[in-house]
Amino acid sequence: VAPPKGKPKWLRVKLPTGKKYSQLRGLVDKYNLHTICTSGSCPNMGECWGEGTATFMILGNICTRSCGFCGVQTGRPENVDWSEPEKVARSIKIMGIRHAVITSVDRDDLKDMGSIIWAETVKAVRRMNPNTTLETLIPDFQGIENHINRIVHVAPEVVSHNMETVKRLTREVRIQAKYDRSLGVLKYLKDSGINRTKSGIMLGLGEQEEEVIQTMKDLRKVNVDVLTIGQYLQPSKKHLPVKEFILPEQFKKYETLGLEMGFRYVESGALVRSSYKAHKHVD
Ligand code: SF4
Ligand code: SF4
Repeated sequence: VAPPKGKPKWLRVKLPTGKKYSQLRGLVDKYNLHTICTSGSCPNMGECWGEGTATFMILGNICTRSCGFCGVQTGRPENVDWSEPEKVARSIKIMGIRHAVITSVDRDDLKDMGSIIWAETVKAVRRMNPNTTLETLIPDFQGIENHINRIVHVAPEVVSHNMETVKRLTREVRIQAKYDRSLGVLKYLKDSGINRTKSGIMLGLGEQEEEVIQTMKDLRKVNVDVLTIGQYLQPSKKHLPVKEFILPEQFKKYETLGLEMGFRYVESGALVRSSYKAHKHVD
């Protein structure tokens, strides 16, 4: 496939607007709050913030892994900040967030892989914001049940773990991860009583339609409830190239198929990110 030239028109986004957005933007700047929405300049800020949803990253900004699609810096991470759970909970309170998505870098360097801070963050958010619902977008914790159990015990409304791509491309896209291990994590979460599980993939990395459909089937087999499908965009020249811009009709096709397969929600579109419309996925 020839590398695509220039972004198609459906990927051009308008700057976020709206009263709620401007109000939150003011608070974020004033209190120096950290959300992925702003640090990743996400195209959906106007929409998500307008609905009271935002995404927060914990455990620092440096990841021990080096996925080929991801713009997060790789290297030796900073020390754990034990006041982070309180800080995140406070940011959520200041911003008046109704549905918070929490995610983290991978911390393969820590004995607990960050699972203790994860659980403490959920608890602190609940204490300070009893009416806020939560989605935790977790790493694979190398499939270690003791670590995953810490998440299960604090029972976020939604627990997600992203497959990111189809089986064949997993090695290239997420070098330190394994397709079957990620599926196993999602299965374990559901079998442990998590009410709503969720996963996401990006398209345009060179996958075939049958492979996408197979991934969707694999996710349904482990009873994943919510699926997000978006277009991969290259964060910098050093990252994996975009092999293809997927047409809007194709996204629609996957959405229809996914709903037929039994997913409760499928968000499928070029600008869909894993936390897009996340507030909907609680019910
Ligand atoms: Fe924030 Fe996620 Fe919405 Fe983007 S899609 S604005 S990162 S909540
Ligand atoms: Fe990025 Fe997550 Fe991969 Fe780390 S594990 S490089 S944060 S996608």
